[in-house]
Amino acid sequence: MTKFPISHSSLILAVFVTMGLTYSDYLRNWDIFIYDWAVRLTKHTVHPDIVLVEIDEKSIRQLGRWPWSRRLHARLLDRLTSVKVNAVGMDILFAEAEQGDSQGDRLLARAIARNGRVVLPLAPELQPNTTQQKFIPPLLEFAQAAASVGHTEIRLDEDNVVRSVFLWQMEDGYPWPYFAQAVWQTGNKSINFPHAAGHDVEHWQRSEPVAIPFINSLSKLQRISYVDALSDDRFLNRLEGRWVLIGMTASGLGQRFPTPVTVNTNPMSGLELHGQVLNALLNNLSINKLNHPSQLLLSCLLVVLASRTQSIQMPWIGLLGSVAVLICTVVSAYILMNRVSIWFSPASSLAGQLFLHALWTARRLEFADLYLAREKKNTATILKSVGDGVVATDADGYIRFMNPVAERLTGYSFEEVRGKTLNEVVNLVDGYETSARFYDLHGNCNADISSGIEQKPLFLINRHGAQIAVRITMNIMLNDRGVREGYVLAISDISETLQISRQMTHLATHDTLTGLPNRVLFSDRLNKVLAQARRDRSGAAIFFMDLDHFKKINDSLGHDAGDELLKHIALRLQSCIRSVDSAARWGGDEFVVILANVHHSQSAAEVAEKIRLACSEPFVIQDKLLYISFSIGISLFPQDAEQEENLMRYADTAMYRVKALGRNRYGFYSPEIEKWTAERLALEADLHQAIAKQEFEVFYQPQWDLWGKRLVGLEALLRWRHEEKGFISPDQFIGLAEETGLIIPIGEWVIADVCRQVRAWSDDGFTGFTVSVNLSPRQFLQTNIAESITQLLIEHKIPEGVIKLEITESVLTDDIDTVIDILTRIRSQGVSIAIDDFGTGYSSLNLLRNLPIDQLKVDKCFVKNVATDSGDAAIAKAIITLANNLELSVVIEGVETATQLAFFQNFACDGIQGYYFNKPLTVDEVNSLLADLENGEQK
Ligand code: C2E
Ligand code: CA
Ligand code: CA
Repeated sequence: MTKFPISHSSLILAVFVTMGLTYSDYLRNWDIFIYDWAVRLTKHTVHPDIVLVEIDEKSIRQLGRWPWSRRLHARLLDRLTSVKVNAVGMDILFAEAEQGDSQGDRLLARAIARNGRVVLPLAPELQPNTTQQKFIPPLLEFAQAAASVGHTEIRLDEDNVVRSVFLWQMEDGYPWPYFAQAVWQTGNKSINFPHAAGHDVEHWQRSEPVAIPFINSLSKLQRISYVDALSDDRFLNRLEGRWVLIGMTASGLGQRFPTPVTVNTNPMSGLELHGQVLNALLNNLSINKLNHPSQLLLSCLLVVLASRTQSIQMPWIGLLGSVAVLICTVVSAYILMNRVSIWFSPASSLAGQLFLHALWTARRLEFADLYLAREKKNTATILKSVGDGVVATDADGYIRFMNPVAERLTGYSFEEVRGKTLNEVVNLVDGYETSARFYDLHGNCNADISSGIEQKPLFLINRHGAQIAVRITMNIMLNDRGVREGYVLAISDISETLQISRQMTHLATHDTLTGLPNRVLFSDRLNKVLAQARRDRSGAAIFFMDLDHFKKINDSLGHDAGDELLKHIALRLQSCIRSVDSAARWGGDEFVVILANVHHSQSAAEVAEKIRLACSEPFVIQDKLLYISFSIGISLFPQDAEQEENLMRYADTAMYRVKALGRNRYGFYSPEIEKWTAERLALEADLHQAIAKQEFEVFYQPQWDLWGKRLVGLEALLRWRHEEKGFISPDQFIGLAEETGLIIPIGEWVIADVCRQVRAWSDDGFTGFTVSVNLSPRQFLQTNIAESITQLLIEHKIPEGVIKLEITESVLTDDIDTVIDILTRIRSQGVSIAIDDFGTGYSSLNLLRNLPIDQLKVDKCFVKNVATDSGDAAIAKAIITLANNLELSVVIEGVETATQLAFFQNFACDGIQGYYFNKPLTVDEVNSLLADLENGEQK
């Protein structure tokens, strides 16, 4: 809680109130009340030398009715004189001469004079019809005989109680002392009696009243019956040297006065009163009022002291502090009275303190009120700004608060639902439509939950029937005594979170580019399909599909085009399969498909063909028509394998085989493929070692003129002598070397070997023919072929026009400018270029015209049936004509028969290569052939 601020204004106000009360004396009665109590509580000692001689009932009985003769009084006085009393206060008014005894007055006057220490009263009398009072003096002869005369006016407070006396009273311009004071003065000659000295006698009528601390127990003042003092010497002796006061106590005689100590007893007789005043004077006990400035100061100081308790933060301790200061105020008044005989009126200070406390309490209440209001407002603001819906109920589960979010979620406004149960407003089900189960929140309330979070997401059905995914937290509100006051229900809208988590799941399980399931999801689906197939005893097929030459598209058109194409392919793929089937992207240009419920390989084949056909239609990407094909490997469940991993591996193997067989087709897995694959892998391993092991050898196949008379060239053809498998043909390993990249070192080795051989022949004088070397597309495009050729030509001092490089049409489809650049550079070194297997590719004639090439080689396939197939013959003829027109030389390869040779002898061909003349020959065989030619032995 915020600290309660000390208020200076309330202190100032309280001080003013205190001052005002002090000035106005408004609380006089309260002061008197406290004073009386203080007096009653005080225990003063009684002066032992004061003796009251009472004109009591006993004396009246024995001495007769009052008034007694003055002779009698004279006799008593004489007796007192005989024991030398200290002073005699004779509170009997002798205002007139005694009747009937002319001697009596004289005798008494003499007795008074003899004693010399007698004080006589000056009795007050109210003047008729005025408030003025006059004093009735004793007879002059008595007054003259007396030691002193004192007035006996008793000062009554408003409540007719005697608390103080005027020690001085003005009469006829002369200040009279109070009777008891006069006695005190008479018996105390040594003290310089203050008289009225120092007082400005002119201006006062009465001196300041002096309060008398009356003594409670009357028995303490010594008393003797008048008659005893008069007639009994034992009593008389007790009066020796004492202060003697004589007066009336018998009932019916003399006035009686109530004092603070006589509340419950008979009022005090005048005699007693004088005795007590004398006692106070003798003991120096008379009480003076604290002077005004000091009274003010002390009152205010105590209020200030009380204000200190304001700074105590705990209200109860503060209250105790305030009470302590109140008590302290009263106690200090009591102590002041007892110790220094000064009366401090505490009432105004007490009132000031109470007023301060009241102000303070009011302020505290106001502060607490404001604080609570502010807290309430803050809490409301907080509740309104939290993102969760908050609904609070009372202990019985009836709604008593709802924040705006809860209003929005439920569709109800708070005013509509106040006092309803949670169940009526927060309609929760756990689960989606079909499995939905009503969730009893109200029941939950009464089931004594201590605090609960419903872990699973629930669905809130709002007023309009919409379903919102929520998470529920419920807590009991307990008061500080641990008693249940209600419940708080927090409703978090988690639909967005759910949405995000669904998106995340989608991201984690789908390919971002194509939107197809990824490997993770595919494998999950595969498992499900297989499990279902096992239960149903049905079958399934798995396709492993790889795009043919996708890399070319990426390389030539850029990755954006490649991505675009993949998206289109994904769409076509999906259009080819049923909803029970799944297609997924495996990665890169690989896709996989599961077909469920496949009972025959035939149905799988149909789908594969459908996919193949669908993808053979051109795709329009970046305004270009793109052609693409798939190589599809298929494995079947349960025929090929039962396990997911095996099925995937077999489909992959089948696809690998399809690739090797020439792409754009599908193929089923079979155990033989496995064998084939294994062999290929083994072969690949061996191929890595082949150069180092010097297992390669170059054969040369001669090319003759049309008549077989002149050797026009030799084609270098690579041979691999495997240490275990023996001779392996290039058809079996060139493709593999191409795929693995091994073709590059192998190809380099071939060219170097050929150059070495050409040098050797040249040294032996064998010249006049070209030597052709086959270049793989990879070798042509990925190595610095022009430079390495130049290097070799220089190294082996090979003359121009001997070496010829054979490239295939597939090289030409790539970046044609680069190709032309490479070709030009090669030719500038005196190396000629032939296009091998011409007619099998799709090179455009227009392109051909601009290419820096020298020769076309007509492919074997046209040669084989050239004599029987008119189509093949036409193609062969066309190629030859084309070559002639473009001024390119033309070589026919694969000529095996005389018929075939005869066909070509009709055309302008530059070379014939084939088994008809020679198979590829070893170097030794070529050497002997060359030697024979030299010797003029013709073929
Ligand atoms: P290619 O360049 O078309 O070579 C001609 C192929 O036809 C040779 O097969 C040759 O033996 C064969 N041949 C020649 N005359 C006849 C005939 O009358 N009838 C039949 N049926 N075949 C004939 P080979 O030597 O098995 O080479 C096969 C292929 O391997 C070559 O086809 C060539 O593309 C490739 N090749 C061979 N050596 C190399 C090489 O060093 N580097 C590269 N990159 N490829 C090579
Ligand atoms: Ca060739
Ligand atoms: Ca060829």
